Amino acid sequence: ERASEREMIEGHELAAKLFHHLLMNTSQGEAAYEYLQSRGLTEEVMQAYQLGYAPEHRQTLVSLFEKRGYSLERMTEAGLLVRSDRTGEYFDRFSGRVMFPVAERRGRLIAFGGRALGEDEPKYLNSTETPVFKKNETLYGFAAARQAIRRSGRAVLFEGYMDVIAAYRAGLEEGVATLGTSFTEAQARVLRRNAGQVTVCYDGDGAGVEAALKAAELLDGGDVDIRISLLPEGMDPDDYISSYGTQAFLSDIIEGALPVVAFKIQSLKRGRNLQQEGDRLAYIEDVLAALTDVPRAVEREHYMQQLAEEFSLSLDALKQEQYRMYKQK
Ligand code: ATP
Ligand code: MN
Ligand code: MN
Ligand code: MN
Repeated sequence: ERASEREMIEGHELAAKLFHHLLMNTSQGEAAYEYLQSRGLTEEVMQAYQLGYAPEHRQTLVSLFEKRGYSLERMTEAGLLVRSDRTGEYFDRFSGRVMFPVAERRGRLIAFGGRALGEDEPKYLNSTETPVFKKNETLYGFAAARQAIRRSGRAVLFEGYMDVIAAYRAGLEEGVATLGTSFTEAQARVLRRNAGQVTVCYDGDGAGVEAALKAAELLDGGDVDIRISLLPEGMDPDDYISSYGTQAFLSDIIEGALPVVAFKIQSLKRGRNLQQEGDRLAYIEDVLAALTDVPRAVEREHYMQQLAEEFSLSLDALKQEQYRMYKQK
C-alpha cells in the first residue's frame, strides 16, 4: 500500500473525528443531533457508528488539513475536498450534512455518506470512487458486523445506512448495506466467504423487490442459504422498526424471511386483487411460470401443492396448465 493511500485514509479518520466532535459537543451540530434523535438514535449509537456533522461553512476541513500539514491536492483526490476550476480555491465537499463514515474490511475509513437534514437534494451525497474507495467491493457496516456475522453464520443485507443502524438498535449486529448502488458480484463474494446464510432485507417497494431478487441471483452459487424479507408496501426496515418495534422486526421480518422461490411467489401478489378473477388467473399463471425455473422437482411440487390448496384447484389442472404454457414458449 502506497504512502498516498495511507494519507487519504488518515484524512478520512481526521475528518470523521472532527465531524463527530462537532455533532456531539458543539452548537453547530445541534440541529443534526436533534435530527438524529428525532429518528430514534441515542448517543451510544451515534458513538458506535461514529456519526458526525459536516458544517455549512465549506472551509472546515480545508483549515484542518492546512493546520495539520496535509496536501490539499491529496485530500481532493481522496474525495474530501473539491477545487474550483475558475479560482483554484479549495472547498469542503460535504456541507450541512449528517455524516456516515464508511470503512473498508479492516475498519479503516475510506469514504463518507452524507445525509441532508431536511428535504434538500440530493438526500444522500456519497464519496466518489477514489484510489482507496472501491465502491463495488465496499459494504457499509461490514467491518463492525464481521464478528457477529462469523458468530451467527448469517449476514443481513440492507439498502440503506439508516437500516443498518436501526437493525443494530434492535439488537441485530450482522447488518451491512450497499452504498446507493446496486449489489455487485464482488460484494456477493465478500458475504459468501463470511456467511453460510444471507438474508436480503430491502425496502418494501417495487424497486426493492426487484433489487432483492437480483441480489439473490448474485449470491447464488456457493452453498449459501439465501432468504429474502418481505416488508409491507412502502416501508423500509428502519420505518418498520419505528412502527412495529424490535420484536416484530426480529421475528417476522428477519426470522420470517422467505426462501427465494417463496418470496417470488409472494411478491407476485403485489398490486393484484386476488378476489378478482382476472387478477387471480394472471397470478396463478405467473406463479406457474416462475416455478418452471425451479430445478428441484420436489420443491416445484411443494409450491404447486400450496397453490392448488390456496385456490382450491387440483394439482392435476395446474400441471396441465403449466405444461401448456411450457409448450408455448
Ligand atoms: P432515509 O431513511 O434517511 O430517508 P434511506 O436509507 O431509507 O434513507 P433510500 O432512499 O431508501 O434511503 O436509499 C437507500 C440508500 O441509497 C441510502 O442509504 C443511500 O446509501 C443511497 N441513496 C439514496 N439516495 C441517494 C442519492 N440521491 N444519491 C446517492 N445515494 C443515495
Ligand atoms: Mn429505497
Ligand atoms: Mn429506504
Ligand atoms: Mn429510510
